[in-house]
Amino acid sequence: MIYRLFFLLSFLFSNFLYSAPQKIVAAAYKNKTIRRPVIVLDAGHGGRDEGAKIRYPYLEEKKLTLSATLFTKKYLEQLGYKVILTRAKDYFIPLKKRAEVANTAKAELFVSIHFNSCPNKIAHGIEIYYHNSLENKAKSKNSQNLASCVLQDVINKTNARSRGVRRGKFCVIRETKMPAILVEAGFITNPQERDNIRKTAYLEKISLGIAQGIESFIKKYS
Ligand SMILES: [Zn+2]
Repeated sequence: MIYRLFFLLSFLFSNFLYSAPQKIVAAAYKNKTIRRPVIVLDAGHGGRDEGAKIRYPYLEEKKLTLSATLFTKKYLEQLGYKVILTRAKDYFIPLKKRAEVANTAKAELFVSIHFNSCPNKIAHGIEIYYHNSLENKAKSKNSQNLASCVLQDVINKTNARSRGVRRGKFCVIRETKMPAILVEAGFITNPQERDNIRKTAYLEKISLGIAQGIESFIKKYS
Protein backbone atom coordinates (compact mmCIF):
# COMPACT_ATOMS: atom_id res chain seq x y z
CA MET A 1 0.00 0.00 0.00
CA ILE A 2 2.72 2.40 0.98
CA TYR A 3 4.43 1.64 -2.32
CA ARG A 4 1.28 2.43 -4.23
CA LEU A 5 1.01 5.73 -2.46
CA PHE A 6 4.64 6.46 -3.21
CA PHE A 7 4.15 5.77 -6.92
CA LEU A 8 0.99 7.82 -7.05
CA LEU A 9 2.69 10.75 -5.35
CA SER A 10 5.81 10.58 -7.47
CA PHE A 11 3.64 10.34 -10.59
CA LEU A 12 1.63 13.42 -9.62
CA PHE A 13 4.72 15.29 -8.56
CA SER A 14 6.67 14.54 -11.74
CA ASN A 15 3.66 15.52 -13.85
CA PHE A 16 3.28 18.74 -11.95
CA LEU A 17 6.97 19.53 -12.40
CA TYR A 18 7.52 18.48 -15.97
CA SER A 19 4.26 18.76 -17.86
CA ALA A 20 4.67 22.44 -18.74
CA PRO A 21 8.17 22.26 -20.26
CA GLN A 22 7.27 19.06 -22.11
CA LYS A 23 4.34 20.81 -23.75
CA ILE A 24 6.54 23.68 -24.82
CA VAL A 25 9.10 21.32 -26.33
CA ALA A 26 6.36 19.38 -28.14
CA ALA A 27 4.86 22.59 -29.53
CA ALA A 28 8.27 23.80 -30.66
CA TYR A 29 8.78 20.54 -32.50
CA LYS A 30 5.36 20.73 -34.11
CA ASN A 31 5.80 24.30 -35.28
CA LYS A 32 9.34 23.80 -36.44
CA THR A 33 9.58 25.41 -39.85
CA ILE A 34 13.21 24.70 -40.55
CA ARG A 35 13.38 21.66 -42.82
CA ARG A 36 16.56 19.64 -42.90
CA PRO A 37 18.00 19.81 -46.43
CA VAL A 38 17.43 16.60 -48.37
CA ILE A 39 20.48 15.19 -50.15
CA VAL A 40 20.12 12.36 -52.67
CA LEU A 41 23.19 10.14 -52.89
CA ASP A 42 23.53 7.92 -55.93
CA ALA A 43 25.88 4.93 -55.74
CA GLY A 44 26.96 4.46 -59.35
CA HIS A 45 26.11 1.19 -61.19
CA GLY A 46 24.74 -1.88 -59.33
CA GLY A 47 23.36 -5.35 -60.01
CA ARG A 48 24.18 -6.56 -63.52
CA ASP A 49 25.92 -3.23 -64.22
CA GLU A 50 29.25 -3.72 -62.45
CA GLY A 51 30.88 -0.54 -63.73
CA ALA A 52 34.67 -0.54 -64.08
CA LYS A 53 36.25 -3.84 -63.13
CA ILE A 54 39.76 -5.23 -62.71
CA ARG A 55 40.84 -8.84 -62.21
CA TYR A 56 44.00 -8.66 -60.06
CA PRO A 57 43.21 -7.69 -57.40
CA TYR A 58 39.53 -8.26 -58.13
CA LEU A 59 37.60 -5.01 -57.84
CA GLU A 60 34.16 -3.94 -59.00
CA GLU A 61 33.22 -0.27 -59.20
CA LYS A 62 29.62 -0.95 -58.10
CA LYS A 63 30.83 -2.25 -54.70
CA LEU A 64 33.19 0.66 -54.10
CA THR A 65 30.51 3.22 -55.00
CA LEU A 66 28.06 1.63 -52.55
CA SER A 67 30.60 1.59 -49.70
CA ALA A 68 31.57 5.24 -50.30
CA THR A 69 27.88 6.22 -50.56
CA LEU A 70 26.99 4.53 -47.26
CA PHE A 71 29.89 6.27 -45.48
CA THR A 72 28.85 9.61 -46.99
CA LYS A 73 25.28 9.03 -45.79
CA LYS A 74 26.56 8.42 -42.26
CA TYR A 75 28.62 11.63 -42.24
CA LEU A 76 25.82 13.74 -43.72
CA GLU A 77 23.35 12.43 -41.14
CA GLN A 78 25.83 13.32 -38.40
CA LEU A 79 25.83 16.87 -39.82
CA GLY A 80 22.01 16.90 -39.62
CA TYR A 81 21.00 16.30 -43.24
CA LYS A 82 18.27 14.02 -44.47
CA VAL A 83 19.73 11.52 -46.91
CA ILE A 84 17.91 9.52 -49.58
CA LEU A 85 19.74 6.79 -51.50
CA THR A 86 18.92 5.71 -55.04
CA ARG A 87 20.12 2.25 -53.99
CA ALA A 88 21.20 0.87 -50.62
CA LYS A 89 22.06 -2.60 -51.91
CA ASP A 90 23.53 -4.29 -54.95
CA TYR A 91 20.76 -3.94 -57.52
CA PHE A 92 20.32 -2.42 -60.95
CA ILE A 93 18.50 0.88 -61.43
CA PRO A 94 18.15 2.66 -64.79
CA LEU A 95 19.85 6.07 -64.98
CA LYS A 96 16.61 8.00 -65.55
CA LYS A 97 15.08 6.39 -62.47
CA ARG A 98 17.98 7.71 -60.37
CA ALA A 99 17.27 11.29 -61.46
CA GLU A 100 13.54 10.69 -60.91
CA VAL A 101 14.17 9.68 -57.28
CA ALA A 102 15.81 13.07 -56.64
CA ASN A 103 13.16 15.05 -58.58
CA THR A 104 10.26 13.31 -56.83
CA ALA A 105 11.83 13.87 -53.40
CA LYS A 106 12.39 17.55 -54.30
CA ALA A 107 15.91 17.14 -52.98
CA GLU A 108 18.12 20.18 -52.43
CA LEU A 109 21.22 18.47 -53.87
CA PHE A 110 22.14 15.37 -55.85
CA VAL A 111 25.53 13.63 -55.68
CA SER A 112 26.46 10.59 -57.76
CA ILE A 113 29.56 8.63 -56.71
CA HIS A 114 31.76 6.72 -59.18
CA PHE A 115 35.28 5.39 -59.59
CA ASN A 116 37.27 5.78 -62.76
CA SER A 117 39.25 3.52 -65.07
CA CYS A 118 41.59 4.13 -67.99
CA PRO A 119 43.62 1.89 -70.34
CA ASN A 120 46.58 4.12 -69.48
CA LYS A 121 47.53 2.99 -65.97
CA ILE A 122 49.30 6.28 -65.24
CA ALA A 123 46.00 8.21 -65.10
CA HIS A 124 45.08 9.01 -61.50
CA GLY A 125 43.28 11.59 -59.37
CA ILE A 126 39.80 12.84 -58.60
CA GLU A 127 37.52 14.85 -60.88
CA ILE A 128 33.98 16.13 -60.44
CA TYR A 129 31.44 16.70 -63.21
CA TYR A 130 28.48 19.06 -63.45
CA HIS A 131 26.09 19.66 -66.35
CA ASN A 132 26.32 23.05 -67.99
CA SER A 133 22.63 23.41 -68.78
CA LEU A 134 21.82 26.32 -71.06
CA GLU A 135 18.13 26.29 -70.08
CA ASN A 136 18.77 26.39 -66.35
CA LYS A 137 21.70 28.71 -65.73
CA ALA A 138 21.10 28.89 -61.95
CA LYS A 139 21.34 25.10 -61.69
CA SER A 140 24.57 25.12 -63.72
CA LYS A 141 26.19 27.79 -61.56
CA ASN A 142 25.13 26.09 -58.31
CA SER A 143 26.28 22.71 -59.57
CA GLN A 144 29.66 24.17 -60.54
CA ASN A 145 30.04 25.76 -57.09
CA LEU A 146 28.99 22.52 -55.40
CA ALA A 147 31.57 20.64 -57.48
CA SER A 148 34.33 23.10 -56.46
CA CYS A 149 33.45 22.88 -52.75
CA VAL A 150 33.28 19.08 -52.76
CA LEU A 151 36.47 18.69 -54.80
CA GLN A 152 38.41 20.96 -52.45
CA ASP A 153 37.32 19.05 -49.34
CA VAL A 154 37.86 15.61 -50.92
CA ILE A 155 41.39 16.60 -52.03
CA ASN A 156 42.14 18.02 -48.57
CA LYS A 157 41.09 14.78 -46.91
CA THR A 158 42.71 12.31 -49.34
CA ASN A 159 45.74 14.24 -50.68
CA ALA A 160 44.86 12.77 -54.07
CA ARG A 161 45.64 14.62 -57.29
CA SER A 162 42.93 17.05 -58.37
CA ARG A 163 41.89 16.64 -61.99
CA GLY A 164 39.55 19.58 -61.59
CA VAL A 165 35.88 20.42 -62.03
CA ARG A 166 34.65 19.37 -65.48
CA ARG A 167 31.56 19.67 -67.62
CA GLY A 168 29.71 16.47 -68.45
CA LYS A 169 26.39 15.37 -69.93
CA PHE A 170 25.79 12.25 -67.88
CA CYS A 171 22.08 11.45 -67.58
CA VAL A 172 21.97 11.64 -63.76
CA ILE A 173 23.39 15.17 -63.60
CA ARG A 174 21.51 16.33 -66.72
CA GLU A 175 18.01 15.07 -65.82
CA THR A 176 18.03 16.19 -62.18
CA LYS A 177 16.36 19.54 -61.46
CA MET A 178 18.48 20.54 -58.43
CA PRO A 179 22.25 21.25 -58.29
CA ALA A 180 23.84 17.94 -59.21
CA ILE A 181 27.38 16.57 -59.44
CA LEU A 182 29.08 13.32 -60.35
CA VAL A 183 32.22 12.49 -58.37
CA GLU A 184 34.86 10.30 -60.05
CA ALA A 185 36.72 9.47 -56.86
CA GLY A 186 39.88 7.90 -58.30
CA PHE A 187 41.19 5.36 -60.83
CA ILE A 188 41.06 1.69 -60.00
CA THR A 189 43.43 1.11 -62.96
CA ASN A 190 46.26 3.08 -61.32
CA PRO A 191 48.20 0.74 -58.96
CA GLN A 192 48.93 3.33 -56.22
CA GLU A 193 45.47 4.90 -56.24
CA ARG A 194 43.88 1.44 -56.33
CA ASP A 195 45.84 0.42 -53.20
CA ASN A 196 44.30 3.41 -51.44
CA ILE A 197 40.78 2.84 -52.77
CA ARG A 198 40.83 -0.78 -51.54
CA LYS A 199 41.25 0.45 -47.95
CA THR A 200 38.15 1.27 -45.94
CA ALA A 201 39.96 4.14 -44.19
CA TYR A 202 40.61 5.79 -47.56
CA LEU A 203 36.98 5.38 -48.71
CA GLU A 204 35.97 7.02 -45.44
CA LYS A 205 38.25 9.97 -46.20
CA ILE A 206 36.63 10.40 -49.62
CA SER A 207 33.19 10.22 -48.02
CA LEU A 208 34.01 12.65 -45.24
CA GLY A 209 35.37 15.04 -47.89
CA ILE A 210 32.12 14.76 -49.89
CA ALA A 211 29.98 15.38 -46.78
CA GLN A 212 32.07 18.34 -45.63
CA GLY A 213 32.13 19.75 -49.16
CA ILE A 214 28.32 19.67 -49.25
CA GLU A 215 28.26 21.44 -45.89
CA SER A 216 30.77 24.07 -47.16
CA PHE A 217 28.59 24.68 -50.24
CA ILE A 218 25.39 25.08 -48.20
CA LYS A 219 27.05 27.45 -45.72
CA LYS A 220 28.70 29.51 -48.46
CA TYR A 221 25.86 29.79 -50.98
CA SER A 222 22.56 29.54 -49.13
ZN1 LIG B 1 31.01 4.67 -63.06
